[in-house]
Amino acid sequence: MRANPDRPPVLRFAPSPNGFLHIGHAYSAILNHNLARKSGGTLLLRIEDIDRGRFRQSYLDQIFDDLTWLGVQWQGHVRHQSHHLADYRDALRRLAGRLPLYVAALSRSEIRARVAAFERESGDAWPRDPDGSPHYPRSAEPVERIAPSAIDATIGQAVRVSMADAVDTLDGPLDWAEALLDDLFRVARVTAEPLAWGDVVLARKDIGTSYPLAVVVDDALQGITHVVRGRDLFQATAVQRLVQHALGFEPPIYLHHDLLLDESGRKLSKSAGSRSIKMLRESGLSRQDVYSLIGLDPV
Ligand code: GLU
Repeated sequence: MRANPDRPPVLRFAPSPNGFLHIGHAYSAILNHNLARKSGGTLLLRIEDIDRGRFRQSYLDQIFDDLTWLGVQWQGHVRHQSHHLADYRDALRRLAGRLPLYVAALSRSEIRARVAAFERESGDAWPRDPDGSPHYPRSAEPVERIAPSAIDATIGQAVRVSMADAVDTLDGPLDWAEALLDDLFRVARVTAEPLAWGDVVLARKDIGTSYPLAVVVDDALQGITHVVRGRDLFQATAVQRLVQHALGFEPPIYLHHDLLLDESGRKLSKSAGSRSIKMLRESGLSRQDVYSLIGLDPV
């Protein structure tokens, strides 16, 4: 199926300054750059810096330095998520009118303890999300739904969505358009399965938003037409589709590219031999050496 290329594509590279860019990021950034160039589109840069605990200014400075060294060219203003928390709060308020949101009191360690106790006592496995984290163990009672006017009073608390109830309100299954690597407009439909994620966090207690909420708001606000990112985020797209749908946003086309693997088939970003771009540069690798490693040259 071909999507209608009625406007020039707008792509984005959206690194999190929680660590140095590695070879997998370089692949993704150059692929975005090349697809934007070849399609006559635009590449935007977004800094996903809402995880303030892991943020370091040195990581952020190095991202700009590495991207420039790699020859990745982005256009226009760089959006830093931490400067736009009010946008995510407004979206959370609108979501409260459309989805069953509730304040979730259990901490991560309390969740782990409850799930371990359940598994020990019952011998059954507790449901886990595609990343392996246990679903939130809330009681079987209906949730106490947060009213939009009460969203500001939830600051400092974690807000989750009752996923089963949210999915029940849909007219049918959600899906998304997934493009093929060589053609941004040749797409296949993929069914979204948000139930697999359980009651996800839409606002963390420390920052008042979350990755799925911030990414959906920004992709819409920045007019992103194509989200090109690694396959490790393929499953997470289901939650993003639910949030887009509830906020009335037109979904972008997605392209989840393969991850680079080492000789033993492990994710290159995770393998023992994996190095940051910074370390590769310091060890004397040229830009062309890095292009050869990832199998791409910028166009
Ligand atoms: N900030 C995310 C990361 O660095 C990428 C999110 C996305 O591309 O949607 O893994």
